[in-house]
Parts: sequence; structure tokens; C-alpha cells
Amino acid sequence: MEAGERPRAAVVVTGSELLTGAISDRNGPWLARELGGLGFEVAHVLVVGDRPADLAGALRFAAEGGCALIVTSGGLGPTADDLTAEVVASFAGTELALDEAMYERIAGILAGWAARTGFGGPALEAANRKQAMVPRGAVALDPVGTAPGLVVPRPGGPLVVVLPGPPRELQGMWPAALAAAPMRELLAGVPAAAALSLRYFGLPESEIAATLRELGDGRDLSGVEVTTCLRRSELEVDLHPLPGAEEVAGELHARLAQRHARHLVSAEGTSTDELLARALLDRGWTVATGESCTGGMLAARLVDRPGSSDYVAGGVVAYANTAKTDLLGVPAEMLAEHGAVSPEVARALADGARARFGADVGIGITGVAGPGGGTEAKPVGYVCFCVTTGDGLVLARDPVLPGGRGDIRERSTDVGMHLLLRAAAPRTAS
Ligand code: ATP
Ligand code: MG
Repeated sequence: MEAGERPRAAVVVTGSELLTGAISDRNGPWLARELGGLGFEVAHVLVVGDRPADLAGALRFAAEGGCALIVTSGGLGPTADDLTAEVVASFAGTELALDEAMYERIAGILAGWAARTGFGGPALEAANRKQAMVPRGAVALDPVGTAPGLVVPRPGGPLVVVLPGPPRELQGMWPAALAAAPMRELLAGVPAAAALSLRYFGLPESEIAATLRELGDGRDLSGVEVTTCLRRSELEVDLHPLPGAEEVAGELHARLAQRHARHLVSAEGTSTDELLARALLDRGWTVATGESCTGGMLAARLVDRPGSSDYVAGGVVAYANTAKTDLLGVPAEMLAEHGAVSPEVARALADGARARFGADVGIGITGVAGPGGGTEAKPVGYVCFCVTTGDGLVLARDPVLPGGRGDIRERSTDVGMHLLLRAAAPRTAS
């Protein structure tokens, strides 16, 4: 590694089921985020099937690419296609040996399982033995399921961390992997990541690009890697300073925050969901939803956060006109006069939800999700939003959102979150 560079890391995800498209990989992205946060440059996320030659090839590829660390996921189980420990041992130039202490620990876990399920005998004994085989010189990590993880040093590098496939087990084992001595030693040489992030709503990427060009005029920004990504309708801008460029990055961060303050959601990395939760809790407010085209997606998003019962009163999916009228008190005449997708009905849904749930803030969403049902005046993607609060605030929007049915419903949920945040956030005198 040269001065001013970050050590490279690779993730090797195994599992033939990931190559058929039967399930999608959740470990690669999770590990990539973790490793990036620790200060590694994630060079590759490779997905390979349960074939020893392919796994060995991926390990060699990462090593030849100069990776100091490889993290693998999957293939630690008791079945014949679970070959990771064996392949990694051979990659590290060592061999498997029975770890007696681990054998006993796994036996204890399996005994409980056998008692509960009635399975046992020689099959279980073989599984126990296989999973207790540890490469010589490796650190074994206590199982979260039944398979131990491994931290396997290879002479001349890279260090290989072997984790189980089930995401819950992998994530549960991660702290122990970080605490293992060879990993601590490696981490001691990794410069702190200190990525700075900014999140904007309603700002196109081109604006950030223009600002960066302007700020880079006459000064060297090459020490700061800037990545932008659109997620949940928000533009995320991350600044990754190379060692020595922290000050420039800090300055850039401040300038970007200031320049686009009107669209800035957070400059600290806090999510919109978290900001909304805090704003509602600070006010002691509860929220209620009256949703049509989003079909409960906004309510689902709100209750996704643990502790949401402190501020979510409830929601109604009022899809049919009769449901809008019967459940949320939207006048039938209003529906007839303005149509179900109209600013008037969005407001009535918000007020109705707030009243029915006795909440402090209500939101109504009604729109044309498509693909059919659009008209010239109300095309597919036309969505009406309204947020009303007990203290008299009314926030209304009726944009035409782009994309297919799924995109429109997702974006509507995002817009709903941001309108709620705007209503609940501390109000400046303006
Ligand atoms: P087990 O003891 O459960 O066999 P293992 O370490 O051998 O553990 P795998 O056999 O690779 O893990 O995977 C077990 C299950 O975990 C898979 O069938 C799948 O449901 C889930 N899983 C594995 N890898 C991933 C992944 N990358 N993303 C999402 N789910 C995964
Ligand atoms: Mg398995």
C-alpha cells in the first residue's frame, strides 16, 4: 500500500442459489458498507457458485489484485456442498484439523436442536465433526447458528475472514470477527474512513456536478473521492478523503451544504426516517395516514423503525371511493366534483385520518399509479399529497412523478416522508 492509499478489500459471496437468481445477495452489500466504513477500499464483490475451483479462483483473483483482506460468506454448513473452510485452508497453505473445544461447543448446540427436532444419530455426529474442522493457525469464531466462522491468516496476505451465509448469522458474527487478533492487527493500519455525507431531496445530480466543478476551479480536490447515488428519491453525496485530504473534504462538505441548503435533508448522515421520528418525538406528536395509491406503503415505512408506536397513531388504506367516504369522511360530492385524485381529496384524506385517529398530523395521498387510468389533465404519475396539522399548517403538493407503477408508488412514499418531515421539523420564521 502506498502512502495516501487505503488498503483494498474484497468480498467473496458463495452460493449457487445466488447465481440462479433464486435469492438475491444480501451479504455483499452489507459487508461492502461495513468495510467501507472501516476505511477499506472495497475493490470487488464477487459472487461464485458452490464449486471449489471457482471459489479458489475468486480468492486468487482478489489476492493478485492486492487485497489485504478477503471476507467470504456462505458454505460453512454441514452438507457436502459446503466447502469454504477446506478451500480457504488450501488457499492459505494450511490444512484442516479438528478443533476439540469447538467440537464440544457445536455438540452442545446440536444436542439442543436434536432434542427439539428428533433428528440425531450418525448424521448429526458427521455434521458436528465437519463443522469443527478448523484450518491450522486460524482463529475460530463462536457459531451464531451451528457453524463457526474463521479468521485465516495467509503468509504474505491477504487475511481471510470466513463467515456463514445466512445474513442474520453473518451479521451476528461480525463483531467477533473484528475483535479477533489478526483482524485487529490489520485494522490498526487502516486509516479512519471519516466519510462525510450529504443528502438532498429535490436536487438533481447535475447541480452537484456543477458546484464541484466550480469549487474545484483553481484548487486540488483530487484527494477527495466524491460518490453520488440516488436512493429513496434522495441524492446522496459521500466525500471520501484520502489520508491527508481531510481538511479539504471538510471544507468541501461545508460548501456543498451551504450552497444547496434549501434542498439539504442532512449533512450528518442521519436518515429521513430518523429525522422524522425525532421531530415527531420532540413535539410529542402522533401521525395518521390516509393512503390511496400507496396502499399502506407510507404507514409501513413509518412503523419500520423500532419505537414507532410512540408517534404513529395508525393509517387507513382508502382505495375505493366508498372507503374514502365511509372510513375517512371524504364527502361523496367532493369526490364527484373533483375526482378521487385531486388536491381537495388529498386534503380531506389528511384531515379525515387526523380526526379519526385523534392524531396531531395527518397525511393524505391519492394519485394515478398507472399504467391505465391517466387523462390529459391527470396523467399517470399525477399524485396529490396533503399534510395537515392540528396547529393549522397545510402543506400540499401535486407533482407528476416519473416511472412505472412501482416507481410511482415508491416515490409517493418518499415524497410523503419528506412532507411529514417538513411539517414536523422545527419551523423557522419565513
Ligand atoms: P448453513 O449452515 O445454513 O448451510 P452456510 O454458511 O453453509 O450455512 P449457505 O449454505 O451458503 O450458508 O446458505 C444458507 C442459506 O442462507 C441460503 O440458503 C440462503 O437462504 C441464505 N444465504 C446465504 N448466503 C446468502 C446471501 N449472500 N444473501 C442472502 N441470503 C443468503
Ligand atoms: Mg450451507
